[in-house]
Amino acid sequence: MDLGLQGKWALVCGASRGLGWGCAQALAQEGVNVLMVARRADVLDAGAADIRASLGADNAAQVQVCAQDITTEAGRAAVFSLRRDFDIVVTNAGGPPSGNFRDWDRADWIRAVDANMLTPIELIKATVDGMAARGFGRIINITSNSVKAPIDALGLSNGARSGLTGFVAGLARSGIAAQGVTVNNILPGAFDTDRLSGLFAVAAGKTGQTVDALAAQRRKGIPAQRFGTPEEFGALCAFLCSPKAGYITGQNLLVDGGAFTGTF
Ligand code: NAD
Repeated sequence: MDLGLQGKWALVCGASRGLGWGCAQALAQEGVNVLMVARRADVLDAGAADIRASLGADNAAQVQVCAQDITTEAGRAAVFSLRRDFDIVVTNAGGPPSGNFRDWDRADWIRAVDANMLTPIELIKATVDGMAARGFGRIINITSNSVKAPIDALGLSNGARSGLTGFVAGLARSGIAAQGVTVNNILPGAFDTDRLSGLFAVAAGKTGQTVDALAAQRRKGIPAQRFGTPEEFGALCAFLCSPKAGYITGQNLLVDGGAFTGTF
């Protein structure tokens, strides 16, 4: 299926690895010019090179990089000094640490809210009115299954991302919907990325179980009996960014191999 995205410009954050990388790759494969942001220049360059290598010879998509911390004002200013008129913005940054809320202080909460709620809102604020004026825009926030099915040890994530989810629900139903701009959240379940293996490593340190045993146990609880891939995640992102998904807005799309046990 041709998604009709050739020549559009996308900002993809947290894009050197994992789910952000999957989104950047899927968009570039649809002919979207992509500006990839992550903190470490070397990892980002390697991620961009992998994407360029995956593009067909007839694909003219530009794959650019900007090594910045997207959660800082300076980082965002550096990104927007390159361009601001993005048609697509994928907000994403690393997830907050797991732990016990009794051990977290105000600074821990502020860091989580900053990265997983206020940064996406700042990115949206900087781009959404331009999208609306041009008559097309797609905002995708990578959030978490923890918004729908809270995970006790991920209290920082449950809290901060729920704040973003509430904000997006209102924004999506504002005037921008009639101006061709959609805003949706994709909620990953368990995906095979560094984030997931990092969480297993922390749990292994606490429980004495091996990372492999913890991963196997987690897989067993997923009807698909496996973890998702960044490519699968990116495919949904690219579809939601396309003109074909113009009637989908304000939604929270859970992608978890069937792990959530509710009816809807
Ligand atoms: P990851 O750790 O594999 O990759 C995160 C990416 O974001 C990397 O490219 C990293 O360099 C970049 N990044 C981190 N902090 C940044 C910052 N401040 N500025 C710019 N770039 C930054 O993580 P992932 O698995 O791809 O997860 C993406 C998001 O989805 C995270 O917020 C994570 O908590 C959430 N999530 C992931 C899973 C999963 O199973 N992988 C499940 C639920 C939620």
